[in-house]
Amino acid sequence: MPKNYITGFPRIGEQRELKKALESFWSKKSDQNALEAVAKELRQRHWNYQKKAGIDFISCNDFSLYDNLLDTSIMLGAIPKRFKELKGLEQYFAMARGSENEAAMEMTKWFNTNYHYIVPELSPEDDYKLNLTKIKNEYQEAKACGILPKINIIGPLTYLGLSKRVDGGDPYALYHKLIPLYEELVREIAKLDTDITLQIDEPIFAKDNNTTVLSLIKPTYDTLCDIASNVKIAVVTYFDHACEATDILIHTPIWALGLDFVYGEKNFASLDKIADSKKVLIAGVVDGRNIWKNDFQLTLAQLDKIAQTVSKESIMIASSCSLLHTPFTLKYETKMDQELKSWLSYAIEKLSETALLSKLFFNQTLSEQEQKHVQENKEALQRKRTSSRIHNATVQQSIKALQKFEREGKFEERIKRQRELLGYKDLATTTIGSFPQTQELREARKNLKQGTITHEQYKDAMKNYIDYCIAFQEECGLEVLVHGEPERNDMVEYFGEQLNGFGFSQNGWVQSYGSRCVKPPFIYGDVSREKAMTVEWSRYAQSRTQKIMKGMLTGPVTILNWSFVRNDIPRSEVSKQIALAINKEVDDLQKNGIKIIQVDEAAFKEGYPLRKENIAAYESWATRDFKIAVSSANKETQIHTHMCYSEFNDIITTIEAMDADVISIETARSGNELLRIFKNVGYKQEIGPGIYDIHSPRVPSVEEMVAQINALLEVLPKEQLWINPDCGLKTRKWEEVKPSLKNMVTAVNIVRSSIN
Ligand code: GLN
Ligand code: ZN
Repeated sequence: MPKNYITGFPRIGEQRELKKALESFWSKKSDQNALEAVAKELRQRHWNYQKKAGIDFISCNDFSLYDNLLDTSIMLGAIPKRFKELKGLEQYFAMARGSENEAAMEMTKWFNTNYHYIVPELSPEDDYKLNLTKIKNEYQEAKACGILPKINIIGPLTYLGLSKRVDGGDPYALYHKLIPLYEELVREIAKLDTDITLQIDEPIFAKDNNTTVLSLIKPTYDTLCDIASNVKIAVVTYFDHACEATDILIHTPIWALGLDFVYGEKNFASLDKIADSKKVLIAGVVDGRNIWKNDFQLTLAQLDKIAQTVSKESIMIASSCSLLHTPFTLKYETKMDQELKSWLSYAIEKLSETALLSKLFFNQTLSEQEQKHVQENKEALQRKRTSSRIHNATVQQSIKALQKFEREGKFEERIKRQRELLGYKDLATTTIGSFPQTQELREARKNLKQGTITHEQYKDAMKNYIDYCIAFQEECGLEVLVHGEPERNDMVEYFGEQLNGFGFSQNGWVQSYGSRCVKPPFIYGDVSREKAMTVEWSRYAQSRTQKIMKGMLTGPVTILNWSFVRNDIPRSEVSKQIALAINKEVDDLQKNGIKIIQVDEAAFKEGYPLRKENIAAYESWATRDFKIAVSSANKETQIHTHMCYSEFNDIITTIEAMDADVISIETARSGNELLRIFKNVGYKQEIGPGIYDIHSPRVPSVEEMVAQINALLEVLPKEQLWINPDCGLKTRKWEEVKPSLKNMVTAVNIVRSSIN
């Protein structure tokens, strides 16, 4: 009986080989054969890693050239009309990235991870047709490597749940059209071998599902299990508990059920029923979303708890979800501090952890090397528990001593003082913070790192650039200026690098979408600020202009949501510590003459829990921590925040409770519907709805922006509105930025003269 199970494996490659191959193919520097050769080599390498680590259940079809949901659309023949004429890879990448004539399909966040998938576009007129080429190829390839793989697919209920219909209808209404294809799939793969394991991913079960979805579970899995007796079906869920679906699935003939015991505490409550049903339990106990070493003692205790209810023979030790969300291997972390490194485990290391845990749990004999591994694990975690690099008494003291949780004065009172002092007009113009990151800036940063320029030279280069940004903004007629953020590589990394408790990797890349990867910082210890992080730049910038220079910080919740976070204390505690550090920075900025400070919460929404039952708690501490971060601001100091999205329906009261004086948001693409929400709840604070979409290289015309501003004025009064682009400009080129902002200012002037 197999004992362990890996839900899925990352595909980008330990040196991001797939990224490089894709980008070379897209820029026509290499051909399809070259791309496919890299893909094949990666698959083989990844299978061999898993085999060598002693993994029993290894997947095929977890590989993708771009995205698994997109692969599923191809498999089902769910190709939007505009791509139907295309074929093969041309079609595939056009769907993902758009083509000269056709817009790409939409992309959105995969549950609460930082991975993004291509949203299926369904239409009732579509004729679906099954295409199993990819699955069959990968299956045979794996066998050629001496592996009998399980086949991973996205389940029908998750696929429909994540789809959108072009006619606006309910995707689940297309259930009857899709399910025959899944039936055919089971029938077809049954022919591949005498025994086949089919992993059907249904992460949608970890959300609050409506009765329609729940009512479809039984018919779906009764039907799919009934097709071929040699196909064993494992339904795998992750990211939270799946109790409602579990209650139903145990009454279907599925062979196994995968549950996440790392992020789905409540799954423990389902154990009795699973035991009665005699299903195999794929116990997700190795964290697939974080980078910390597994605590073997703790996990074994957890497994023992499970085994008190479910018979040991029915348990398989597994990753909590696909390892897609973790970086590849520690092998390349050659510069990392040894102690920090000893606390970490990336995907490859998680394979050994999974295999070893299964040996420990099932009392198999350990090799000498394995015994050493267990010993090291114990020692590393022992050191971690007491390390002074993690536990900082001063930080813990100041958290306990914290008494001021919000700013002085009510908004109405503050804003009156601020408007008097700052003297900005209605429809005041500003930008979100960054200006284009040019090649020279990147070069300067690189040279500083490599030591080929001095710190002074680097600073001079940055200051020159700040001067340039200021000169442009003044010439353009913008009213509240920014310094342009040239010194920042990334809005989280920049702060992490200066705060205690943050670590950085050399090669900790995680796929975000397609060929794009991110390298999040990790927060391993108590967070504190040693010295001011932005004051020098902001003070310099303010000294170069008579206009108001806005200070620019990243908020605590965003820093948290874009990092790997320690798991020995609650996230809310970590967030509070960061808030305290930002709080000091806010104070230093205002003491140094900065009158407006923007605290970006670009990722505030990303941290929302999947389950409604957990949302109130998140909102409560996330709001608390934003408020702590700005509570040092005097009444006169104006606090702005910025959020990069446009769906505020569910969170508007929370946004209001954050109590920022001004919020800039993304509305350019969603129109004024959004503003009505602000109006409807009687939102009092000032708002800067982005009036053009910076993500498009197109320069918006004056007329367009005049129309846009007038449309805003139909919903909100001029006193409440600021005018700005919808996000930072660092990814844009000056050739686009300059005319766009000039047009924006001209548009504001036209509107002002027409209403005064
Ligand atoms: N101040 C940041 C910038 O302008 C905000 C970035 C963001 O919202 N993602 O770059
Ligand atoms: Zn933004």
